Amino acid sequence: MAISRAHMLAAAAFCAAAALAAASAGDGFQFAILGDRTGDAQAGVYEQVWAETAAERPACVITSGDSIEGGDDNTAESQWQAVADAWRPYRRLPLYLVPGNHDIWSPLSERLFRKYAGHAPHYSFDYGNAHFTILDNSRSDELSGAEIAFLESDLKAHAAAPVKMIFSHRPSWLIPVALKNPDFPLHRLARQYGVEYVVAGHVHQMLHFELEGVTYISMPSSGGHLRLSKKYEDGWFFGHARVEVSGRAVDFQLEELKAPRGRGRITKAKDWGMTGLLEKPVAAQRAAGGSRSAGMPAR
Ligand SMILES: [Zn+2]
Repeated sequence: MAISRAHMLAAAAFCAAAALAAASAGDGFQFAILGDRTGDAQAGVYEQVWAETAAERPACVITSGDSIEGGDDNTAESQWQAVADAWRPYRRLPLYLVPGNHDIWSPLSERLFRKYAGHAPHYSFDYGNAHFTILDNSRSDELSGAEIAFLESDLKAHAAAPVKMIFSHRPSWLIPVALKNPDFPLHRLARQYGVEYVVAGHVHQMLHFELEGVTYISMPSSGGHLRLSKKYEDGWFFGHARVEVSGRAVDFQLEELKAPRGRGRITKAKDWGMTGLLEKPVAAQRAAGGSRSAGMPAR
């Protein structure tokens, strides 16, 4: 308890200092998005993702949710303490958690999320010239009416922010966006208020969609298991996103883990579609033989 309070106070103090720095550094900054930690967490992946992310010195880190394996009130707090241990080396980095279905399933687990995240299940914050809205769909596939109402009031109150992004754990938007159907509340609000990016986790697969100028991203995994083909070119890999904001411009880059759990391949969001990489690497179509794979070499 004392440790987590101290952690939160330190994070809050750093956050305030970082916000001042961001304000004085003009309107450009770089931040990181981590995918899910759990959902059959793979040993060592999350720690490697954090080490590689922190080395890039992001202004802050936002997750896509599922920070603990969860599911059992009796072990939930010890699981939060374990993940807090993983964060401790990076406690100077402001960290914003999104609530996943592995994080919140009961009243007690919601209280623990509030304690360790330092936020309600939905909240919003500003960084530099950008506004971030975190929505809660931890307990249903859909975004509830209450979440949509919160989103609308939040976007209305921050309508002047030049850059806006929405995060939720589950990609509640996936089916209408894949069907190119713009007629759903989240999308209508995103369009109305000029939201550029809508980001989710849960699936553990890198997917990218564009609908009427709104970019929708399903994040690759930062620890949770890879499914189906488990192939990079199909969007199944471990890594994180490095996002640069400069004025109204947003550069969204995906960075696969380096060895031993990845090959350090770097792509842009636009390189991906609804079934993985838009241009499948030649290497994937041949038998193994040392061909180059997709993505630029790691820096
Ligand atoms: Zn999930």
